[in-house]
Amino acid sequence: MPEGDTIFRSARTLHRALAGSAVTGFETQLPALARVDTDDPIIGRTVEYARATGKWLQIGFSGNLVLLTHMLMSGSWHIYRPGEPWQKSRHHMRVAIATQAIIAVAFNVQLAEFHTARSLARRQGFSQLGPDVLGADFDEAEAVARLASNPDLELGVALLTQSILAGLGNVFKSEICFVAGLNPFERVGELSKMQLESLVSIARRLMAANVTNTGMRQTTGLPDPEERLWVYQRTGQPCRQCGATILSRKQGLDARTSFWCPVCQSM
Ligand SMILES: [Zn+2]
Repeated sequence: MPEGDTIFRSARTLHRALAGSAVTGFETQLPALARVDTDDPIIGRTVEYARATGKWLQIGFSGNLVLLTHMLMSGSWHIYRPGEPWQKSRHHMRVAIATQAIIAVAFNVQLAEFHTARSLARRQGFSQLGPDVLGADFDEAEAVARLASNPDLELGVALLTQSILAGLGNVFKSEICFVAGLNPFERVGELSKMQLESLVSIARRLMAANVTNTGMRQTTGLPDPEERLWVYQRTGQPCRQCGATILSRKQGLDARTSFWCPVCQSM
């Protein structure tokens, strides 16, 4: 599942490829989008920006129109030159936006909506997003406050709650807890303000480090590509710090697996 770092990179790539260009072609398999296009065509508009907010991606068009997408489990944006073969089959295409120079194709995107600035500000799930871990205006104090106001949540669940902190997914959840030395099953209310502050700044630092390099996710800073992550998907293997066996367990209503070292992250 794409996390905020992946979406951030997609948005940056789309922005570089599309912003400032006029739309010369628009295609969609989603009826709600097609209806808007019929009433008020996308062709002829200028792409103003592409940006990420948490795990959401927005593409802004002239004439007060925003395409809001969420990748959920399997969605992705690709960029092609005209005539270049696509890497996925055409029937996975949901939206395609063409300019003279490129075609941006959204594959398997399960959530795609057109909005005006006003309807976007009211969009459930989007308007309530917490501070965006990768946002230029990231408000650390607000993120700490939102965490603190959910004392009953387990840490691993709180970090995935997008209305608390936007952009984190399952990989970073476990890695952030490890770097912070905190057990993902500990309740937020058990932590001191200093621990919460440290957690938030670790989240910001790990995510930011992963949008600058374009390769695989990396949290350990170790040179060996086999040692990129501390705990994620390392069940049964020795902790890179203390040698104890890494554990994993499903967590929360969504049963997202958390990975941790029982020694470095004792409760
Ligand atoms: Zn350990």
